[in-house]
Amino acid sequence: MDEFAFIRSIAPKHHQQSSLIKGIGDDAAIFRQPYQDIVTAVDTFVEGIHFSKQTMEPHHVGYRVLAANISDIAAMGAVPAFYLISIVIPDSWTKAELSEIYKGMQMLASQYQMDLIGGDTVSGKELTISVTIIGYVEHNKVRYRNNARENDLVFVTGTLGDSSAGLYLLTSQGHSLSDCTRDYFIERHRLPSPRVDFSREMLPLSRVALNDISDGIANEAAEIAEASRVTIHLDYNSLPVHPQLKQFTAEQQRKWKLFGGEDFEILGTAAESDWPAIRAAAEKAQIKVTRIGYVTHQPHNTGKVILQEGNEQSILDKSGYTHLK
Ligand code: ADP
Ligand code: MG
Repeated sequence: MDEFAFIRSIAPKHHQQSSLIKGIGDDAAIFRQPYQDIVTAVDTFVEGIHFSKQTMEPHHVGYRVLAANISDIAAMGAVPAFYLISIVIPDSWTKAELSEIYKGMQMLASQYQMDLIGGDTVSGKELTISVTIIGYVEHNKVRYRNNARENDLVFVTGTLGDSSAGLYLLTSQGHSLSDCTRDYFIERHRLPSPRVDFSREMLPLSRVALNDISDGIANEAAEIAEASRVTIHLDYNSLPVHPQLKQFTAEQQRKWKLFGGEDFEILGTAAESDWPAIRAAAEKAQIKVTRIGYVTHQPHNTGKVILQEGNEQSILDKSGYTHLK
């Protein structure tokens, strides 16, 4: 494949962001940003590890890799604006499939008026896509993980475990779900929705700690607890799930709710008095938000997540174990 023809084929014809001075076509891209802070992150996805042709069409691959990066920007409270794509291309992927990957990214990028402003193209053994994302946030409004405080409430958007259920449905046989339920879980796996609108609606709040759920709520809660040097308590029975998740075994539900990754929902903590504003933000963003716990300061449990299940309390391990307190 001709690299230059490939780059020409994926280069956008128009730009959305007015701050962009030069996108694809020179040695580097340039944009001008006088007032806000710039937020940037990079993530790399390798075929066979992070995605596979068995469970996804090429456009799903593109959509999902960009969604994962936009989700990081949302978890900082920022607005996504630009992305760059570094791609390692093996012989096993056709030009048409690669173009579908870029279309999948564009499907999502256009929802946020994001521009593709550069990248790199090389050949190699496994399809590898590295996404660099750039966004903006108003001064002093970045939503660090270390923003959690004693007596905060803990909330989460959407429902948990959907993406894991979707992956399970794509990789196993013999379940008796209706087509519509099956499609729901599979779509949540293939086309996840980053929660940018919700996190932006919370802009007026002076302090919120946010983390996006890429590795399961147990892990993300522990990251907030560690960074903020607090203890996070989660109420198992409050964790929000889709009503049809109950079609799966109790063991699967538990595993997917607590440790299932890639739902790209937002986990956060904020002052009790901000709960009405958080609910209003969710309503404006047309998503669900649920209170699932609270924050304490217990010096012997700093950085830990405690799961309350009925009358039982256990320490929630990031790796998927729970042990009784
Ligand atoms: P250079 O030799 O300066 O690295 P390249 O030939 O790699 O230039 O790239 C030319 C232009 O195309 C640059 O603007 C670069 O950012 C962009 N580009 C290259 N590969 C990709 C890609 N896979 N996706 C998006 N933009 C790309
Ligand atoms: Mg290059």
